[in-house]
Amino acid sequence: MFSILIDEEKCNCCGLCVCVCPNEILVKRSDACSPMVTDGECFGCENCMVICEAGAIRIIEEGEDAPNGTKT
Ligand code: SF4
Ligand code: SF4
Repeated sequence: MFSILIDEEKCNCCGLCVCVCPNEILVKRSDACSPMVTDGECFGCENCMVICEAGAIRIIEEGEDAPNGTKT
């Protein structure tokens, strides 16, 4: 099981991660620039992290501590 962390300070709102997620875990928001992370099942394919040129996405494996300043 994996969680996705998006650093909103790094995110440039390109929306590419939303397009490449096969499970629709990442979705655009109307009220904010960065994508929302839904609670669907992320299987850690890394598509979103690889395509994010801003380096704003981190994939956390279950049991790993999330860094400060990011959110799931
Ligand atoms: S690919 Fe990266 S920079 Fe683009 S919207 Fe997703 S998190 Fe933000
Ligand atoms: S790692 Fe894969 S399944 Fe998980 S949010 Fe990113 S693109 Fe979607």
